[in-house]
Amino acid sequence: MHDELLSALRKIVGSANVLAGDDKTSYETDWRGQVHGLALAVVRPGSVEETRAVVRHCVERCVAIVPQGGNTGLAGGATPDASGSQIILSLCRLDAIRKVDRANMTVTVEAGCTLQGLRERLMAQGLLLPLSLGSEGSCTIGGNLATNAGGAQALRYGNARDLCLGLEFLTADGDLVSELGGLRKNNTGFDLKSLIIGSEGSLGIITAATLKVEHAPRSSVCAWMAVKNVDDAVALLRRCQASVGTALTSFELMNRASLELAADEFPGMPIPFLENKDVEQFVLMQLDSQEPHDTLQARIEEELGAAMEHAELIDASISDSMQRAKGFWLIRENIVLAQAKKPHVVNFDIAVPISAISRFLDLSTQKIEERYGALPIVNFGHLGDGNLHFSVHTSRLHEAAVTSSLEEDLRDELYRIVLDLEGSFSAEHGIGSRKTSHLRKFKSGARLLMMQNIKRALDPRNLLNPGKVVQSD
Ligand code: FAD
Repeated sequence: MHDELLSALRKIVGSANVLAGDDKTSYETDWRGQVHGLALAVVRPGSVEETRAVVRHCVERCVAIVPQGGNTGLAGGATPDASGSQIILSLCRLDAIRKVDRANMTVTVEAGCTLQGLRERLMAQGLLLPLSLGSEGSCTIGGNLATNAGGAQALRYGNARDLCLGLEFLTADGDLVSELGGLRKNNTGFDLKSLIIGSEGSLGIITAATLKVEHAPRSSVCAWMAVKNVDDAVALLRRCQASVGTALTSFELMNRASLELAADEFPGMPIPFLENKDVEQFVLMQLDSQEPHDTLQARIEEELGAAMEHAELIDASISDSMQRAKGFWLIRENIVLAQAKKPHVVNFDIAVPISAISRFLDLSTQKIEERYGALPIVNFGHLGDGNLHFSVHTSRLHEAAVTSSLEEDLRDELYRIVLDLEGSFSAEHGIGSRKTSHLRKFKSGARLLMMQNIKRALDPRNLLNPGKVVQSD
């Protein structure tokens, strides 16, 4: 049956686009190299019609489909199981920009277009797609929508869902739903677009989308700041917001340990104020505006001066060039890369109300110390969204052979703290395959039942990314 299936798929997409053997290996493991699977084949259609034919062919034969974009997801959602019976459907060849509608301020783009490619093409026309992730060179628009990605500009513009005004997707029967008009108002019953967005390929396969765009800003100012603690960082956020309003695009928090890790892995990278041992927390702030650069810069300088007088701010460096601003962002992005090189790290992607961030950090540090003694904690994230990438480095425990249920125990303890603070145990990376058990454990009851019922109704044979997000049985 497999040979027959593969030869039918080759007829649809061409032999070069059905990968088997070693050619599919890089698609079978996640970005962190922690989740491994085995696919029957990787199939790479080159058009929506081909994608539809592949989906129809697979569902008729009860072959499960794992959609994949850039494979940069951090929840194991794009990796097949170990059975060797699922196909990976790579959407990367569907990468056309179908239409830029300047009057509607939208772009209609296919799912496989990379985020960076799209941002660059729009920027050349004076337009901004306000979604920015460290993975943007590889991640795709389909993957961004399937995970409802957040990123560094979500503070001002919202997550991927907030940017999406229209969606085209294939259902589990291979039918195409195409609503790409880019409407800002459309109350014709259930909002299916919102249901598919964030469903991580488990309810539909996204083939194209219509996204909001903005005029590219005339001026941008970036500041690197040193503060004593998280409460001061929150006070600074509110002060800057009150002063510059919606010009505040990003407000990123990094603790000392995260920057020391980046400094170790990327020696020679200048990190302002790291030598000042009084500084525990660092902030990277970006402002974008249509007003002249000098006006924007003068306003923020005045505000930061006032913050220093009120002892909310220890020191600040304002970028005097694009290159310097890029240097600040590189430090932030290199934390993620430095951390990915380390073994024995338990990563969290949590959100709590901004007013509860400090309490979360206190309670979780205290809990970790009580149970395991002091362990290095690397914490950075999107402070303006209350979203922390909090990581516990557990090498010392591995050396002492305290291992077996360590990760599970840690997750249990910290997720309980998060939920007590009315937070989320998955802020922007999704559930994928890695957090399904936590979803069952911590979101049981009517909410989980409703999710299971939706999955059953839209994918009754459980062929779209089975085992991810929610089990239908
Ligand atoms: P993939 O990894 O290929 O897939 C992710 C999920 O979406 C899977 O469940 C897959 O089945 C599904 N999927 C993919 N394409 C489709 C489609 N066309 N139709 C239906 N389902 C589909 N995430 C953030 O939110 N914010 C960040 O700031 C951020 N920074 C990151 C930085 C780095 C260095 C890395 C490696 C990752 C980061 N991520 C971040 C996570 C990741 O990049 C995003 O989740 C991204 O949106 C995934 O896109 P992708 O194309 O790589 O999707």
